[in-house]
Amino acid sequence: MAKRILIVEDDNSIRELLVELLQGEGYDVTSAVNGLEGLKCLAHNPSFNLILIDLMMPVMDGYTFRTEQMKNPKFSKIPVVVMSAEANAKEKLKSYGITAFLSKPVELDTIIKTVELYS
Ligand SMILES: [Mg+2]
Repeated sequence: MAKRILIVEDDNSIRELLVELLQGEGYDVTSAVNGLEGLKCLAHNPSFNLILIDLMMPVMDGYTFRTEQMKNPKFSKIPVVVMSAEANAKEKLKSYGITAFLSKPVELDTIIKTVELYS
């Protein structure tokens, strides 16, 4: 069975690109436009192998999403890969226990390799 990936990204063009890219690699991809929608996806079906998430998003950002994710044992263990252009994001994420951090703009090859490695 294909591994399930949850993409949480507010930028339409980046999100659609990532969905196509990972579907092309054979993953079962679900996408959400902000952290709150991402949490709803997890609540609906927590069986994701990996979450690929942006930080700066309206409604609920990536930091808040991760905080909420860690509170729920049903999906707290799912690895989280953060993508961000924010200069000090890696430093700010130290206490968030994320699996990997990718600086935007991210090379597509790097995304494929990182998802393969941790999913
Ligand atoms: Mg964003």
